[in-house]
Amino acid sequence: MILIDGKKIAAELREELKQEVAELKTKYNKVPGLTVILIGDMAPSQIYVRNKEKSANEVGLKSEVIRYPDTVEEKTILEKIEELNNDENISGILVQLPLPKHIDKQKVIETIIPSKDVDGFHPMNVGNLSSGYESSVPCTPLGCYLMIKKIEPNLSGKKAVVVGRSNLNGKPMTQLLLKENCTVTITHSRTKDLKAECLEADIIVAAVGIPELVKGDWVKKDAIVIDVGINKTENGLVGDVAFDEVSKVAKALTPVPGGVGPMTIACLLKNTIDCFKRSQK
Ligand code: NAP
Repeated sequence: MILIDGKKIAAELREELKQEVAELKTKYNKVPGLTVILIGDMAPSQIYVRNKEKSANEVGLKSEVIRYPDTVEEKTILEKIEELNNDENISGILVQLPLPKHIDKQKVIETIIPSKDVDGFHPMNVGNLSSGYESSVPCTPLGCYLMIKKIEPNLSGKKAVVVGRSNLNGKPMTQLLLKENCTVTITHSRTKDLKAECLEADIIVAAVGIPELVKGDWVKKDAIVIDVGINKTENGLVGDVAFDEVSKVAKALTPVPGGVGPMTIACLLKNTIDCFKRSQK
């Protein structure tokens, strides 16, 4: 069984991105800039944003974090986004989620100009992805996609089952696999027989949020299994896949932690660089 080492693949990607940033600097005499807006002081968001800033600096991007207290008015955030939309030194804008209740998440997402939407959440980017056009793609499914391609470069005709249909993970993952000519089944909480669906799959991507939902006897021999889930349990962090059981049948499997997680931030950096490159065209 191949243990898909997300830490290693993410480190390789960051190294490639570092070189790309250096080349862009030589060519354009400037580097891509990422601005993250962080509202409130929730511990997980603080940690994510610190890691994003650290990784951005490592690859040579210009990065900035703008912090607001959780009492900030929605209007202030929307005005700041407009200002960043018009700042030619900024290639990517990210507003760290979740937001305080009084701020309309969708309004925030739609205020970010699609060309700087490094999270790929703007309806224009969602539409472009589903139409098969160039777009920013949400970072976590993009990371999953890159890992799957490392194991199996030619996905044409493969049967893929995506477990979970969130806008963040399941839906964009489905689009990426479709683009690669997979036959994709997207499943969710009302799916009648999830085990039977999974047993058909050459590739399973589980993004559910239920500890160890996907069992060993749900997985076809030699399937590729990507575990997006991060669940805190009494036994520590576990994914949506029963790792010990599935590792006995799968061809390749991501661990939790150390699988999908590290790829997410690396893909944010990739998206920032891609936004910069598109803006120079
Ligand atoms: P979400 O928005 O809560 O969506 C969960 C999806 O799972 C929904 O579509 C839901 O179906 C489906 N579901 C729930 N119970 C199910 C069941 N018994 N059988 C089949 N499908 C079921 O979750 P998310 O934001 O996509 O996150 C999923 C997991 O990934 C979480 O553990 C989260 O922490 C993790 N995550 C990891 C990363 C990373 O970087 N590694 C990033 C983001 C999220 P319905 O639509 O029918 O409700």
